[in-house]
Amino acid sequence: MADEDNLVYLLDNKIYINLTNQCTNKCTFCIRTLKDDVCGANLWLKNENISAQDVINKLKKLKKDENEIIFCGYGEPTLKLEILKEVAKFIKTHYQGVKIRLNTNGHANFIYNRNIIPELVGLIDEISVSLNAPTEELYKELAQPTFVCDNVLEQVKDFLKKSVEANIPTVASVVSGYKDYDIDLKACEKIAQDLGATFKVREWLNNGY
Ligand code: SF4
Repeated sequence: MADEDNLVYLLDNKIYINLTNQCTNKCTFCIRTLKDDVCGANLWLKNENISAQDVINKLKKLKKDENEIIFCGYGEPTLKLEILKEVAKFIKTHYQGVKIRLNTNGHANFIYNRNIIPELVGLIDEISVSLNAPTEELYKELAQPTFVCDNVLEQVKDFLKKSVEANIPTVASVVSGYKDYDIDLKACEKIAQDLGATFKVREWLNNGY
C-alpha cells in the first residue's frame, strides 16, 4: 500500500474510511469527477491492494474522540466487503459506542448475487443508500451503472427493503439541485416511505460537502 494513501480521513469531526476507488456507477454528479480531494485529503488511491490491517493501522493513528465512523470515499465500499466487515468488527470491539455508517450505491446484492445484509447486522449501525431517482430511466441517466441490468433501480430498492427488514436504520438519499436535473422529490420520498426507509435530500454543493 502506498503509505500516503488516504484510506482514512477526517471531516466535520467524523472519521471516513475510503476503501476503494472502484465503483459500479459513474454518477454524473460524483465529486471525484470534479476534484481530487475532500478537505485537502486526496482520495485517489495509488494501490487498491489493501488489507483490513492497513485500514486499522491508519484508523488507530487518526482516531481521537470522534464518535462516528463512515465507510464512504471515492468508490463503493461494499466492493471491498470482507475488509469492510473486518474493519467494522475491529471498531465494534475497540471503540465501543462509536456509530458506524455505510454509504453505498445499493448494488452489492446484485453484484455478489446473494443477500449480503445479514453479514452487516451487528457491524453497521446505519445504511445510507443512494436512491438517486424515482424512475429507472432517470436513475440510469444520473448514475450511469457500469454493468448490464434492466432494472438497476429495482435492485437498489430491494437492497433498501432488505436493509429495513434486517432492522438496520436505513436512509434513502437523493442529490437535489445538480445542474438542471428536475428530480421528483415527492416521488422519491414515497418510494423511501413505502420501503420503510428514512428519506434524505442532499443539496448539491459545488465543492461536494
Ligand atoms: S456511487 Fe458514489 S462513488 Fe460511485 S460514482 Fe456515484 S457518487 Fe461516485
